[in-house]
Formats: sequence, structure tokens, C-alpha cells
Amino acid sequence: MKIQNDEDWEIYLYLREIEKEWRRNNPAHREHELLKIFPDAKPVITEKIREWEQIRDEFFNTIKKRLTVIKHTDDDDFSKWFWREWIKETDGKKLMEAEGHIKRLKRLLWATKEKKPPKDWVTGECKALALSVPIEDVLDREFRRTGRTLTALCPFHDEKTASFTVYSDQNRYWCFGCNQGGDVIHFIQSLHNYSFKEAVRYLID
Ligand SMILES: [Zn+2]
Repeated sequence: MKIQNDEDWEIYLYLREIEKEWRRNNPAHREHELLKIFPDAKPVITEKIREWEQIRDEFFNTIKKRLTVIKHTDDDDFSKWFWREWIKETDGKKLMEAEGHIKRLKRLLWATKEKKPPKDWVTGECKALALSVPIEDVLDREFRRTGRTLTALCPFHDEKTASFTVYSDQNRYWCFGCNQGGDVIHFIQSLHNYSFKEAVRYLID
């Protein structure tokens, strides 16, 4: 997605919102074990990624067009809100489904690469993939949601009231007890005492 102006940025934020909702209902699956049994499936996956990317781009353009139309109508605020919600429920969900499939298939492909690079090998792509893993997925705890923030008992210190906070929009955390925070890579580093590279590999393998 190319962001060129304020309007694009607005659409981007809107889509991020849908993405979070979609993720909440579709927890990540780890299917690379299956692919090891069916190595012939790899070219199919590459093809599938391309197909989903095409679908995603189509939905993105449709949503963009529709939102622009809504923005420039003379409808009252309620109608505008209604149509935005309606798009979110229909095309938005489909778009995020496509996005989810792409991410999942890419991760799957990466995990089954025949020649695994040495343990300390990390590219920008690896880092981006690692950063896309939601903190709430790697911290196996009960979370309480308030809007776009999640709170849980901190894994780094003993407490009875939750002060470990995850800002799901940015996928970053902050503990008000430890006065510490960061992104998901930093979180895994602290949790398992891993180096940066080890944490990245942990998140994508
Ligand atoms: Zn803490």
C-alpha cells in the first residue's frame, strides 16, 4: 500500500483497525509441519500468495473508492458512519482475510526453506515478519481489552493488578510497574533472555 497523502493515511489507519478485529477472531496457525510432509505444495503456495495479493489489491482499491465517495457526499454524519461500518464488515473483512492469508503463507514458505540459514542470519524481511507477530499471541496470558489497549499481569514482575499494557495498534508494550517497554522483538528478548537475532528467529520460525 502506497501512502501519498492525508487521505491515504486515513484509509490506512482505518484498515489497521479492521486488521486488529480480524486478527482477534483468527488466531495464528502453525502449519509448517504439514508442509514438511507435502514438499510438493511449495510452488502451489507461491502461486497462492500471488493470487491473494491480487485479491487484496482489488479490495484495497474498492475500499479506497468507496470511502472517497462517502467522504464527499452530503449525507449526515450518521449515514457516513453507517456506510463506513458497512464497508468494514464487508470488503474490509475480505481484505484482511486476504492480508492474513498472505502473511501466513509467506511465513509458511519461509519456515520450510530447504537450506536453513545459520542461526544468526537476519534480514530486513525477517525483522518485518517478526514485528508483525502480535504480542498478545506470544504472551500466553489472560488479557483485558479496553478499546485498543490490552492489559495483563506482567510476566517480568509479581503483581496482583495488571499493569502490563499492550498497544495493539503499534504492537508495542509498556509495563507501568517495571517502567519498561518496547516492540515484540524486545519483548521476546526480555522474556527469554535472547539476543536480537535469536528473538527474531524465535518469532518467525
Ligand atoms: Zn512489570
